[in-house]
Amino acid sequence: MKQPRICPGCGAPFQTDNPAGPGYVPREVLQKGGKDLICRRCFRLANYAEETPIDLRNERYVEAVRAAVKNAGVVWLLVDIIDFAGTWLPEFRELCEGKPVLLVVNKVDLLPVRSRYSEVVAWVRQEAAVGGWRPDEVLAVSGQTGYGVGQLAGHSRALAKNARAKGPEGVGHPNTADGPARAKGPGAGEPTRVAIMGATNVGKSTLVRRLLKEYGVVESGAPTVSRFRGTTLGMLEREIGEVRLVVVDTPGIVPRGRLGDQLCPDCAARLVPTRGLNSKLFELQAGQALMFGGLASVVVEKVGGSNEGGKETSMLGPEASVLLAFVSDEVTLHRTTAERWEAVRDEHGGDWLQPPCVSCRDRLSSGGWEGQSFEVLPLQDLAIAGLGWVTVRRTPVRLAVYVPAGTLCRIRPALVGPRPAGPKTSTR
Ligand code: GDP
Repeated sequence: MKQPRICPGCGAPFQTDNPAGPGYVPREVLQKGGKDLICRRCFRLANYAEETPIDLRNERYVEAVRAAVKNAGVVWLLVDIIDFAGTWLPEFRELCEGKPVLLVVNKVDLLPVRSRYSEVVAWVRQEAAVGGWRPDEVLAVSGQTGYGVGQLAGHSRALAKNARAKGPEGVGHPNTADGPARAKGPGAGEPTRVAIMGATNVGKSTLVRRLLKEYGVVESGAPTVSRFRGTTLGMLEREIGEVRLVVVDTPGIVPRGRLGDQLCPDCAARLVPTRGLNSKLFELQAGQALMFGGLASVVVEKVGGSNEGGKETSMLGPEASVLLAFVSDEVTLHRTTAERWEAVRDEHGGDWLQPPCVSCRDRLSSGGWEGQSFEVLPLQDLAIAGLGWVTVRRTPVRLAVYVPAGTLCRIRPALVGPRPAGPKTSTR
C-alpha cells in the first residue's frame, strides 16, 4: 500500500480530486512523483507569487497547533515585530499552557538601523507583561538574514532541561505528551521537540528554512515561504541533528483585528514589508489628516494638552503635531484635511491611493468604517494592527483614527526611539 504523502511546502496531504483544495496535484504529476514534488498551490506561490485561495478556518488550525504543542518540549512563539499589535494574541497564552515558551521576536531586520535589539527585547517583555505574561525567554531574530537564529537551539535545550528538572509542578507541566507517565520528556541524548507557533505571516516557514540552511540539512523540499497568509496548512516536522532539535512548523492562526485579513491576498501582501519599513515624518496641525492608502486615516483633532480653561497649550506654542509614520513602502502616505479624507478615499482609493484595489475598497465600504479618538503622549505609538503605526513626537495630541470596522488599534510606548517613562497602554 502506498504511504499517504505530504507536500513538503505546506504540509497538506497530496490529493488529486479537488483542484481548489489543499495539497492538489494533477494525477499524472503525482504518478510521476519525484523528490521535489510539491502541491500546485505551493508551486504557484514559489514560482509566480500567486495565491490559490483556501478557506482558513481557525478551529481546524487551533486543534493542529494544540496537538503540536502537546507533544513538544518547548514552544517557540513567533511574533512579528513590525506588526506586534496584530500578531501578539491573548489566546496564545492558553495554547502554550504548561510548556516553556521562547518568545521569538522575528523580522528585526526590518526595524530602522538605529534600533537596538536589546531595547526591542525589553520593549517586548514589557508589552507581554501588560497582559500579565512572562515568557521564559525572549530572543530577537531575523529568519530572513539569520540574525539571532544560532541562539535558538541552545536556549531551547536549556529551557527543556529546566522544565524536566522541575517536573510537572515546575514550569507548569510535563515536557512531553501525556501526563505523568511521560513527564520526564526526552532523555539527555534525545532531540528536543519544538512546536513553532504564531499568527499567519509572522515568518515561521522562513525561520525553518533558515535553520535547515544554517545547519546544512539537505532535504527534498523546504517549507514554502510567501507574503500570502496561510501558506502552511499542515504540520511539517524536521529534524536538525547537529543541534538535537526536532522543529514542528504549525499552521498559522489568523488573528482577530488585523487589517490585512480583510483584504484580498494581493492587497494583504502589500502590507507586509519585505525590504524595510518606510518611516516618514509629518508635521500636522489640528484639522489635518494622514492617510495610509485608502485603508486608514489619522486625523489630528487637537495639538497640545488642555489647560484649566480648556484652551489648547503646548510648550512650543500654537503649532503642529509631529507624527512619525511607519508602514510598508507599498502603502501610499498622503496628507489631507479632516474634511477631505473621506472624499479622497472614495474618489482615489484603488487608483493612486494604494492599497486597496477597487474591489477591496468596495468591500471595505460595505463593511463600514469605525472611528475612535485617542489622547497620545509624546513617545507613544498609535498602532493599527496589520498596517503600521505613528509615533507622536514633541507634544501631546488627540488623534482620531478611522479604520475598517473590526480593526484593532492601540496605544503603546514607542517601539522605535526613546521611550516614555511609564508603561501605559490601552486597547480597543
Ligand atoms: P508564515 O506564514 O508564518 O510561515 O510566514 P512566512 O515564512 O511565509 O513569511 C511571511 C512573509 O514574511 C514572507 O514574505 C517572508 O519573506 C517575510 N519574512 C519572514 N521572515 C522575515 C524576516 O525575518 N525578515 C523579513 N524582512 N521578512 C520576513
